[in-house]
Amino acid sequence: MEWRTRWHITIRWDRADNSPAGVTVIGRVVDSPAQLRHLVQRARADPHVVAFPHRQTRELVGDEPTHCRSGHSYAGGSATRPARDWWTCSCGGHLVLRCLCGDVLADPPVGPGCDVRES
Ligand SMILES: [Zn+2]
Ligand SMILES: [Zn+2]
Repeated sequence: MEWRTRWHITIRWDRADNSPAGVTVIGRVVDSPAQLRHLVQRARADPHVVAFPHRQTRELVGDEPTHCRSGHSYAGGSATRPARDWWTCSCGGHLVLRCLCGDVLADPPVGPGCDVRES
């Protein structure tokens, strides 16, 4: 998995009749500043748009690891399921999977800019 920056924008119209979607509020999620800018410009240009608050978020995308580094599968019954933990970090945090064999796998991997705090 990896942390990705995304933007959530909510666009409100004065009346549903005036909105292209036919509703007064729509929410969109975009992956790039360019897409966000495009939506904001369109909202600004529309006299019926009354508000378009947006916020930046960091979201974990991708699939969780399926095997520990020794090759044990995480799938299956409780006998093979790893203990799950979470490390707080400036990058957003890491999912931690502790295999029964003792392997501790952080996902996303801890990078040079990380300041992991085990909680
Ligand atoms: Zn293992
Ligand atoms: Zn980190």
